[in-house]
Amino acid sequence: MKVTIVGCSGSYPGPDSPASCYLLEADGFRMVLDLGSGSLGALQRHIGLYDVDAICLSHLHADHCLDICGYHVARTYGPAAPYPLVPVYAPADAPRRLAGAYGMPEEPALETAFEFVPLRPGSFEIGPFTLTAGLVNHPVEAYGFRVANGGRSVAYSGDTGESQELVKLATGTDLLLCEASFVEGPDLPPDLHLTGRQAAEHAAKAGVGRLVLTHLVPWNDSATVLEEASAGGFAGPVELARSGAVYELG
Ligand SMILES: [Zn+2]
Ligand SMILES: [Zn+2]
Repeated sequence: MKVTIVGCSGSYPGPDSPASCYLLEADGFRMVLDLGSGSLGALQRHIGLYDVDAICLSHLHADHCLDICGYHVARTYGPAAPYPLVPVYAPADAPRRLAGAYGMPEEPALETAFEFVPLRPGSFEIGPFTLTAGLVNHPVEAYGFRVANGGRSVAYSGDTGESQELVKLATGTDLLLCEASFVEGPDLPPDLHLTGRQAAEHAAKAGVGRLVLTHLVPWNDSATVLEEASAGGFAGPVELARSGAVYELG
């Protein structure tokens, strides 16, 4: 399995990265986890615009899903349209919410490009991958994912505060893509995001092979996020996510 970080900027695109988007490839199948603001552009550095076989949206905050609107245009009106429908695994409200963002709330506009599949906690097959979705700790319906293929696995936190479910999803994975949106401070809101230290604590509890800190918010100093993660008790390798970074698992 090959994991490419397309976008790792938290909450909005930064100068060096779009918002959340991760490309997972195995056996010629290409699955995208999140399609946040700006990510459709950077995705095309790695695969062709029409080469996406499945999309999973962790939750419906704009920095995780909004480029579905632009991708709808590409797949509905592109030079070789109509293109095959791409399955989009997402919270059940996704068709209504994203059609609203697109400006056609009364029509099933996005269904010309996508087949929406409501996410629920549990495991199912998507192409060659076994995906496990679990509800994490964020103010909206939000999922973390574990994706396995050929004896290798990766976990992605989505957006979450401290979460036992995230530990469960990540247990024994080769790679944990864990959000670290906050730097330590006195009045951090609970049940929203993690600090680097908390990300490392989750990685340690889950016994993952490698921790990659992601959803890095541009107004934070990412060196501080990495420093704080090093104090979280995780003994394995820890690094900051970077748009364009590739991890070959197995
Ligand atoms: Zn976010
Ligand atoms: Zn969010």
